[in-house]
Amino acid sequence: MTVKFILRLKKLKKISFLLLLLPSIVLASIPVQNTPIPGGIAVIDFESNNEKPTAFYNNIPLYVQHIKDQHWQVLVGIPLMEKLGKKSIKVQDSLARSFDFEVTEHNYTEQYITLKGKKKKYVNPNLAHMDRINKERPILSNARKIFSNNTVSDGLFTRPVNGVTTSPFGLKRFYNKQPRRPHTGLDYAGDIGTPIKAPADGKVILSGKYFFNGNAVFLDHGQGLISVYIHMNKRLVKQGQHIKQGDLIGTIGQTGRATGPHLHWGIYLNQTVINPNLLICK
Ligand code: ZN
Repeated sequence: MTVKFILRLKKLKKISFLLLLLPSIVLASIPVQNTPIPGGIAVIDFESNNEKPTAFYNNIPLYVQHIKDQHWQVLVGIPLMEKLGKKSIKVQDSLARSFDFEVTEHNYTEQYITLKGKKKKYVNPNLAHMDRINKERPILSNARKIFSNNTVSDGLFTRPVNGVTTSPFGLKRFYNKQPRRPHTGLDYAGDIGTPIKAPADGKVILSGKYFFNGNAVFLDHGQGLISVYIHMNKRLVKQGQHIKQGDLIGTIGQTGRATGPHLHWGIYLNQTVINPNLLICK
């Protein structure tokens, strides 16, 4: 081989390396569809010359992504209990602006669940259980309030489990005929021990065992985008660990308030639980 040829090869390698990097620069965003319903995501586009504009809804920081050139996008998680009608977000770059959006109606179906025997404690917990629940509550809610500069993998999320979904997001739930919070996630049925894989890059911000959630793992994907995995049999990651899309994080179980083995998968955006289906490929 001549020196000239080797040099040319090196140059080619450099170019293909750059080409490999290019898609991540252009597509460093999640292609979410505008779904401005309770439990949905409002997608708001705006222009900015700023390097890192910020946005807020009810003073809570929002997920802001760069699309192309001056084109930016805000993803706003809408609470399941949000009143319908006109809402507005604040965008802050060199100037302060506000953008309006409209929350429209969506009717989620009702579900009645009966818990018997030992599982009854999850409907009417006793004093000792209440003590534990009250101790765990701030740990769980503080984890959901984390707003970091971590970044997710490009594109949509992958499914954490290759199973069928048994309970959709947003179901209005009644436990032993008593109204409780609506279903705040997506349930995947599966045998105990079925692997659960990270749907996107992230950092483990919580890994522990809790009264209602059982064995649970929380992943931070950056800018207030957090995914949670509950009722697990085994947790296979530790707090502080960085993980890649597709990494094994645990297995399906039925720990905590679960009537059978399944994964409850929840997604939070701006401290608001939203439909995980909005972030994955259809
Ligand atoms: Zn669930």
